Amino acid sequence: MRLPTRLNIRNEATRRSDFKGTIAKELFTRFPQDTVKSINSDAQVELHCAFDHYKNPVCQGTAIINVTSTCMRCCEDYSYDVVAHFTLAPASSEEQADNLPMDYSPLLIDEFGEVNLTEGIEEELIMNIALTPKHEDDNCFDSEQPMTFGDQIEEETTSSNNPFEALKALKGKLGK
Ligand SMILES: [Zn+2]
Repeated sequence: MRLPTRLNIRNEATRRSDFKGTIAKELFTRFPQDTVKSINSDAQVELHCAFDHYKNPVCQGTAIINVTSTCMRCCEDYSYDVVAHFTLAPASSEEQADNLPMDYSPLLIDEFGEVNLTEGIEEELIMNIALTPKHEDDNCFDSEQPMTFGDQIEEETTSSNNPFEALKALKGKLGK
């Protein structure tokens, strides 16, 4: 099921509506292009509308979308899921938005009491895109892997390949 583009959260909260559906990836136009090379899937979204303890109508939910970025470490492309958990709340003014709890995402309502659900969820996803995307350590192609025990020994022998140099240095220290 496609999610509606616009939603009257207050009405849906009164009905305690649940939504499970997708938003077409073509509708997401504001993803940062320097970080996200491509969007690979539609967003999978689950929403639950209700009133919070303060009687604010809210729309709580989760959205997941798969994207491709370039790994900052090895410069190879890789794909990963961006996951957003959010509480959307309608607001009729900036002032009303400011009075909502800090962790809510206020969305301005239009003259029909509806918010732009697609833009709201797009914003939540964008906020959860990694600022410095990179592979999990195990999957990274970067050559600078953590040193193994064998490498360490080799490095020590090459850095002091002249044992007499090392001895002289040691004697110098003792003489002071
Ligand atoms: Zn990598």
